[in-house]
Amino acid sequence: MPWGSLRGHETQVDSLRRAMVGGRLPHAFLFVGPSGIGKRLFARTLAQALLCERNPESRLLPCGQCPSCLQVVEGTHPDVLVVSRPEDRQELPIRAIRQLCLDLGLKPMRGSRRVAIVEDADDLSDEAANAFLKTLEEPPPNSVLILVGTAAEVQLDTILSRCRVVRFEPLSVENVKAILIERGLTTDPQAATRLAEQSEGSVARAEGLANASLEEFRRAMIDELGDPHRFDPQGFARRLDAFSKEAGKESSPQRECARLLIGELARFFRGILWQTAGVDPASPDQADRRAIAVLAERMEPEDVFILADRCLEADLQVQRNANRALIFESLSHDIGSILNQAR
Ligand SMILES: [Zn+2]
Repeated sequence: MPWGSLRGHETQVDSLRRAMVGGRLPHAFLFVGPSGIGKRLFARTLAQALLCERNPESRLLPCGQCPSCLQVVEGTHPDVLVVSRPEDRQELPIRAIRQLCLDLGLKPMRGSRRVAIVEDADDLSDEAANAFLKTLEEPPPNSVLILVGTAAEVQLDTILSRCRVVRFEPLSVENVKAILIERGLTTDPQAATRLAEQSEGSVARAEGLANASLEEFRRAMIDELGDPHRFDPQGFARRLDAFSKEAGKESSPQRECARLLIGELARFFRGILWQTAGVDPASPDQADRRAIAVLAERMEPEDVFILADRCLEADLQVQRNANRALIFESLSHDIGSILNQAR
């Protein structure tokens, strides 16, 4: 049975429920794990469960139908405070954190407690994190704070020592597939399976990949890598940059598109690594598998490893809003220097 509208993450639900029953529910959490696997939805479902007006909070089971549960879903519950990084900023503004700390100290308006959700917690500046410490150390009575990020390693020790770190794993192929169909992203079960297999457990990735022009571009990108006579680093970088710029006027969709492309490159290189190790590359796409087989014959595993690692590095740089044209240029240069020497 899903917890609210959430799929997967049963271990985390069980562990919270045990803490609740034992009267040991922490007052501050840091949720970490890859993007697009449901951590924000988990935070909202936890808020629902704590504020539900039908089910006692000791059950930690939101009914999903009472006015309080509905307000949490609509984002209008007066006791659920959410802050996230504005689209055009690189960091969570310190002002928003200060305001959140003040608001958390006010008396609950509807329920018996207040719940604060800090999204994009990876982007807390040291200054904003420090402004948060006192509230994390001594939170107002009955309040619960949930920080949602991707990795514990990017947080200050002072934040980590004050939070219960909850790690989330990528979703199973079955869960991603079910979510894609539930959300109407595709009605074709075969297409849903293929996207779910490509998604690496992230619904956000699957959603991004369910785009015909992106799939066409991705196909051309992988074919170019697999073709021994064709790889042109400068042209490759220019094409990646131009395609990601077509994703929208704002920086955010462009960044997400760049991340999807880099993620697909990383998945491709990992496929080659598996193949060189004699393991099935687990790619649902036949043309990908052919390109993987060609390069696995020709490349040294250490070189493939370097390229897979370079993709991760490029992804981090994109997340930090560094100049994408330069990131693509440098990544393509490194791919070219290894691929062209392998030919
Ligand atoms: Zn309810």
